[in-house]
Amino acid sequence: MPRDESFSALIVGGGPVGLTMAHALSRVGIDFTLLEANGSFDEDLGAAIGLFPNTLRVMSQLRLCEKLQSIGEPLHYKVHQTYDGKVYDRVSYDSLIKENHGAVPLLCSRRELISTLYNALPENIVSSKIHTSKTVTSVTQTDTRATATCSDGTVYSASIVIGAEGVHSVVRRSIQASMRVSDNFDGDSFLAEYRLYWFTYPRVTEMDHCYEVHGKDLSTLMASNQDISFMFVYDRLPTPTREHVRYTTQDIDEAAKRAADLPIGTTGLKQSQVWDKRMKVGMTNAPEGILRKWFHGWLVLVGDAAHVVTPTAGLGLNAGIQDVVALTNELCKIRDGRQDLESGLQRYVDARWELANQIKQASAFETRRAGWKNYIYQFLDRWVLSIPWVATLLYNKLTAPKVAECLVFEELPGVKERFKGRVKWVHPMPSPVASGTASGWGLQDGSAAHTR
Ligand SMILES: Cc1cc2nc3c(=O)[nH]c(=O)nc-3n(C[C@H](O)[C@H](O)[C@H](O)COP(=O)(O)OP(=O)(O)OC[C@H]3O[C@@H](n4cnc5c(N)ncnc54)[C@H](O)[C@@H]3O)c2cc1C
Repeated sequence: MPRDESFSALIVGGGPVGLTMAHALSRVGIDFTLLEANGSFDEDLGAAIGLFPNTLRVMSQLRLCEKLQSIGEPLHYKVHQTYDGKVYDRVSYDSLIKENHGAVPLLCSRRELISTLYNALPENIVSSKIHTSKTVTSVTQTDTRATATCSDGTVYSASIVIGAEGVHSVVRRSIQASMRVSDNFDGDSFLAEYRLYWFTYPRVTEMDHCYEVHGKDLSTLMASNQDISFMFVYDRLPTPTREHVRYTTQDIDEAAKRAADLPIGTTGLKQSQVWDKRMKVGMTNAPEGILRKWFHGWLVLVGDAAHVVTPTAGLGLNAGIQDVVALTNELCKIRDGRQDLESGLQRYVDARWELANQIKQASAFETRRAGWKNYIYQFLDRWVLSIPWVATLLYNKLTAPKVAECLVFEELPGVKERFKGRVKWVHPMPSPVASGTASGWGLQDGSAAHTR
């Protein structure tokens, strides 16, 4: 098949996954349009996200790594405490993660992450291809194209629609309309067993520490950048639900009372004392699930639209970025006539499903371990997994080989491998000679970026 120069994509959603998709497609020279419901890329939800070495590695191929490192704080330690503040586990990310994969996780505020990804796009791309205040309400497809309609009546069409609009995905609804919903879930169907509220406050603990407080049905996770601490509190729901609940300020205030006496790291402060200084607050149910089928015809899903996990292990976005890599690799083959659409998209899902499912399971385990769902989780947490050599052995034997399987962009030039550890990456960087790099991009980190 000849190369289809008119092949184009419509990205629905400009969250961190959608914006990374925009970077990837523009780098490989696939025309795209991105539609984002929000009016800007500067919304501050008060949440933070940890980027792992596999993500930083592909971000270095997109020449974004240095920019992200400049807004992030490296995390070196994770400390586990009981409700009375007793420290019973202290994990060194240097020995667990850096030693294996070449870097510790990088903590970024979600707002800064999104605005950095957006601001790093070249001006001509932003002005012509990125559209804000565009809420997609429906998607349809013909034999040759897919079309998205927005709430303001505007219509956009492309060769393929990529649903990157998160957990309440419109594109997913269209895909599911083509099959029985029960055929498309792994059994959990985005059921939420936990709810989560988070808030920010002026930093009081070390920047390189992440603190977790574990206990029965209520657990916290807290990390900080230079100025701000990000607190996440997990609360087990009395009954698991699939309902999309919108929590009020009063709901959050009431939930915060339950956690009022929990410790703030080893400062001696209680949560109520930092709650009084809160800046941004949010609350949501934490659904969990992974679809079996991520595409239908010209519609395909990436990120939270396809798989959603509890944030405890900090893996949700990192999984979504791997979707971007795998899908971009296949779209290049489809565009170039080396692969037909159906088998290309199936190869994309095959490349991602197993690892995404393992991430879902690992995240589910970490949430239940932190919330001592039953005596087995409590025992494992307090007395087994807190033994340093056990945790190291499990990470080295089970987790590190999976992280090492993470993909790289095949069509982008390889960059110097900055992230080298004990475990060799299964997919090495491609040759440093560009095969698909689009013109208009420089070779330095963010060299063609616009500023605003
Ligand atoms: C409190 C919290 C902490 C987290 N911490 C971590 C972490 O440390 N590490 C990690 O890897 N993951 C973490 N996650 C998960 C991570 O945030 C998600 O996996 C990630 O944001 C998914 O990105 P996404 O772009 O797929 O979806 P989203 O971030 O949900 O973005 C979707 C975008 O689509 C837009 N949109 C939605 N509907 C429409 C529509 N109809 N039309 C147009 N646009 C639309 C939205 O406005 C949004 O901008 C955390 C999540 C939470 C809630």
